[in-house]
Amino acid sequence: MEAVAIDGPAASGKSTVGRDVAERLGFGFLDTGSMYRAAALWAIRRGVDVSDEAGLTALAESVRMDLDGDRLRVDGVDVTDWLRMPNVERNVSAVSAVAGVRRALVPQQRRIAEDMPIVMVGRDIGTVVLADARVKVYLDATVEIRARRRYAEIMGAGMDVDPGHVLWEIARRDRVDAGRADSPLAVAEDAVVIHTNDLDAGEVASRIVDLVEGRQ
Ligand code: C5P
Repeated sequence: MEAVAIDGPAASGKSTVGRDVAERLGFGFLDTGSMYRAAALWAIRRGVDVSDEAGLTALAESVRMDLDGDRLRVDGVDVTDWLRMPNVERNVSAVSAVAGVRRALVPQQRRIAEDMPIVMVGRDIGTVVLADARVKVYLDATVEIRARRRYAEIMGAGMDVDPGHVLWEIARRDRVDAGRADSPLAVAEDAVVIHTNDLDAGEVASRIVDLVEGRQ
């Protein structure tokens, strides 16, 4: 199946851009970050400590995740509205660094990609999950710009947050995601890097659609 792999650090605009690209191409869209967030949410709900690697692995192996349009279901339960909660945000990088969790979730990501042409976004899509995707993109922006965008998004959703804390949290996740042993955030050799500091999401999406349609 045709697939577009989009990777990049936290708040680089992957979801907004990826969703737009998928819509323009008529492809499905999977944000793999939401699957790691769902694993973290499940661990919190079941009382599995984020330092308990065996417990987290067993949990990830026992659940089935499915896309239902743009909703994510875990064992049939729609978890979409819970995935951006602060306690999920705080714990997700630790959960996603566990090799057993990744070993359980990557096959589920590949299964979803077999069902439909897809735009898949994450940290290791071009390097690991869909290493033979025809089009691979890596989105980047400075940590300050990413923090500003995430702050606007949170405030826009009617929640209140300290801008300094948003910046600190993104920088911390960057460190954990790039420094872990298993599938760290990295630029695939054959990825096109797009710096988004001075571009809006629509412009980035247009560039990616051009790449897919062979215009660039
Ligand atoms: O992209 P998002 O910020 O929603 O991802 C949440 C977390 O999930 C990331 O900080 C990272 O730890 C993890 N993740 C990952 N591999 C992916 C996607 C996300 O490890 N492919």
